[in-house]
Amino acid sequence: MPIYEYRCKRCNAEFSALIIRSEDESKIRCERCTSTKLTRLLSRFSYHQSEDSRLRDFDPEKPRDDTFYKDSRNIGLWAKKRAKDLGADLGPKFDEVVERARTGKIIDDYEK
Ligand SMILES: [Zn+2]
Repeated sequence: MPIYEYRCKRCNAEFSALIIRSEDESKIRCERCTSTKLTRLLSRFSYHQSEDSRLRDFDPEKPRDDTFYKDSRNIGLWAKKRAKDLGADLGPKFDEVVERARTGKIIDDYEK
């Protein structure tokens, strides 16, 4: 599933959106001003964003909507950011837990 980056022609906000079906694109609105006048940025894809930059851009205070949780790469990001801010050493064990959360293996375990 591709994630595209958009820039709002009205307020210049940049954001990314997950496009599952091609018709979803017509429903996309600017996250800041809800304008539908958007430019798709072809040069940059979220998949190429490093985890470091995801952590840097990620704002834990910002309310998260459904789309945040639909992106499995965001799972564990909040905890990771918090721990990093606190200067905690998470160690490889934490990465493993986050990785399992991302791949849905933890959810599978609970269902058994
Ligand atoms: Zn806008």
